[in-house]
Amino acid sequence: MPQILQKIEQIYEQVVRRNPGEAEFHQAVKEVIETLAPVLRKYPQYAEHKIIERICEPERQIIFRVPWQDDRGEVQINRGFRVQFNSALGPYKGGIRFHPSVYLGIVKFLGFEQIFKNALTGLPIGGAKGGADFDPKGRSDDEVMRFCQSFMTELYRHLGEYTDVPAGDIGVGSREIGYMFGQYKRMTNRYESGVLTGKNPHWGGALVRREATGYGSVYFVDEMLKVRGQSFEGKVSIVSGSGNVAIYTIEKIQQLGGKVVACSDSGGVIYHKSGINLETLKRLKEVERRRVADYAEEHRDAQYIPGGNIWEIPCQVAMPSATQNELDGASARRLVANGCIAVGEGANMPTTPEGVRVFLEAGIAYGPGKAANAGGVATSALEMQQNASRDAWTFEYTERRLHEIMKEIHRSCYEMAAEFGSPGNYVIGANIVSFIRVAEAMVAFGVI
Ligand code: NAP
Repeated sequence: MPQILQKIEQIYEQVVRRNPGEAEFHQAVKEVIETLAPVLRKYPQYAEHKIIERICEPERQIIFRVPWQDDRGEVQINRGFRVQFNSALGPYKGGIRFHPSVYLGIVKFLGFEQIFKNALTGLPIGGAKGGADFDPKGRSDDEVMRFCQSFMTELYRHLGEYTDVPAGDIGVGSREIGYMFGQYKRMTNRYESGVLTGKNPHWGGALVRREATGYGSVYFVDEMLKVRGQSFEGKVSIVSGSGNVAIYTIEKIQQLGGKVVACSDSGGVIYHKSGINLETLKRLKEVERRRVADYAEEHRDAQYIPGGNIWEIPCQVAMPSATQNELDGASARRLVANGCIAVGEGANMPTTPEGVRVFLEAGIAYGPGKAANAGGVATSALEMQQNASRDAWTFEYTERRLHEIMKEIHRSCYEMAAEFGSPGNYVIGANIVSFIRVAEAMVAFGVI
């Protein structure tokens, strides 16, 4: 075993050397490969085939210029990315993020996570991620359209329903997907519905896709709670963020009888002791594209804390649903001290490595993002199925499928963790289940 650990350490050092300055990517790689020693011991063929080394190297990385004109006629230049990380299990699949913080290291961390998340769904999809350092906030619809058209004018040549199928992520919702799909259709002269997911249900989108990541995360936490003889009923929860994932996380918690007392955006935190009013939040965020600060204007008993730390608010269930590294060691300790018993990551890698250690040492139920938020991409794969068969499923049927998938992801992670001697550790369970699935396909395909 010490030899295997040493080998893994060497692989990690090589990743850091070959990908300088990409801290988030290094963090994501470390978090996965440091749990794989027992797998290499049980299946030495994976080491012979250099599966870990190969998985850490993207199959293809595309970086491109995105020029566009703003409403004043001024030319703007952004940088676009698509990292096609691994296609062992199916066409590349993963969202597109528009946020000023996007650079290659962010796209690679997200693409790397996506390989394992997609494998966990049990559906035939490989891993990828894309984006641009474009900030849609404060931009007019026309500006967003021109940007999306320029972005797709380059990206389209790398996509296809059997090649690479993007979806939304931070800053990319159904408006942006619509503009990108329109440009793809125009440039290819093909109505290839299955080339993008997260489409509006009026033109090929799946019902439940909008809700899927949030609902799925809550289903995953519900399963973790059930193992402990608990449920959401009557429990106080907090949900960071107020975007797509956060809103539908709040909705499902409320449907299951829980109370959500706080949410946030990058400006601050809303604390509403009697429970977040979802109708107000949806209108502010989905229709009017405003800030959570405005929520307190409409609900006088709610408190707005500018720049506040949401994790200081006492709760039993915490659902980080905004962005990476938003929950550090100190915040994790605060949550545990305040009586938090479960954490489900709607966002990707929202908890820092120190925060994860705190949760695992405290023995609370901790659902890492690649398992807990896999419902979004799983429902994207269900959208692809509907597009391929020219079919449209009902909301109820699609949600039932999502629920079954989340239960199955939970079951497989839970059982694998126990099999490898770490019962209740979903980090180990999720990493090992997904790694084995990808590794088996890679071994079968030979050295490619
Ligand atoms: P979204 O609709 O754009 O919402 C993002 C939310 O997070 C907003 O409230 C935003 O606040 C906040 N946020 C973003 N960057 C932040 C930062 N640096 N500091 C503080 N708050 C920040 O995006 P989303 O689709 O809900 O995605 C949220 C997370 O879930 C991301 O980690 C994403 O990768 C992950 N995820 C999404 C999906 C999906 O289906 N959409 C699937 C799996 C995982 P502002 O408006 O102030 O920026």
